[in-house]
Amino acid sequence: MTTVLEARDVHFAFGRTPALRGADLRLGEGEILAVMGPSGSGKSTLLHCLAGILVPDSGEIHFDGQRIDRLGETGRSALRRDKFGFVFQFGQLVPELSAEENVALPLLLSGVRRSAATAEARVLLERLGLDGLAARTSGELSGGQAQRVALARGLVARPRVLFADEPTGALDSLTGEQVMDLLVGSARAEGTSVVLVTHEPRVAAYADREVVVRDGKVLALTAEPAA
Ligand code: ADP
Ligand code: MG
Repeated sequence: MTTVLEARDVHFAFGRTPALRGADLRLGEGEILAVMGPSGSGKSTLLHCLAGILVPDSGEIHFDGQRIDRLGETGRSALRRDKFGFVFQFGQLVPELSAEENVALPLLLSGVRRSAATAEARVLLERLGLDGLAARTSGELSGGQAQRVALARGLVARPRVLFADEPTGALDSLTGEQVMDLLVGSARAEGTSVVLVTHEPRVAAYADREVVVRDGKVLALTAEPAA
């Protein structure tokens, strides 16, 4: 399996608090990888390093054969915009905007014209079965609906990698399953690779492979795919 994203011996500390202490990880093309581990073990920090949000103190992050930890903020922010999609625990929709406008946002930020971005957002909302919600603001959505709209926003620019940090963490288990069905179904349909951070085994069960983060290191749970 082709490697899309890789962390090698990554260290990161928040001041004097070490969060990652030699983390290694490989994500394959089209692979859905669950990152498990107890609270405070370094899962979110690892995701942020992989996604070019944080820069490791030492170690390497490779994306498509490129050392992204060596890019400046401008390069990393372009990479996040053009290649990566994000969905976080509490959807974080812009409250003043409709669902459709929220979903169109990543395209607008990439310079797509408003009419084209809106059309694309509509297509995605429809594909995810959310077209009935297009005009609603986040205050008019249930938690599960808001999270599905946030997922649509994360996918609208057709990212190479979707980073999902506890995407079902704020939801009850049935609603969480609906979000995961949608996430996994869309990722599979598009061949999107996914880094899925979760502490819920039921959510991790959707992934192709699981790793566990413990004390800032990655322990493999299931076998890595052959290179
Ligand atoms: P997880 O996502 O597995 O719960 P995190 O990556 O958020 O873990 O945190 C790893 C460690 O880094 C923990 O000790 C946590 O307290 C610390 N940490 C995380 N974010 C910050 C921050 N912004 N400032 C200081 N310490 C932080
Ligand atoms: Mg976390």
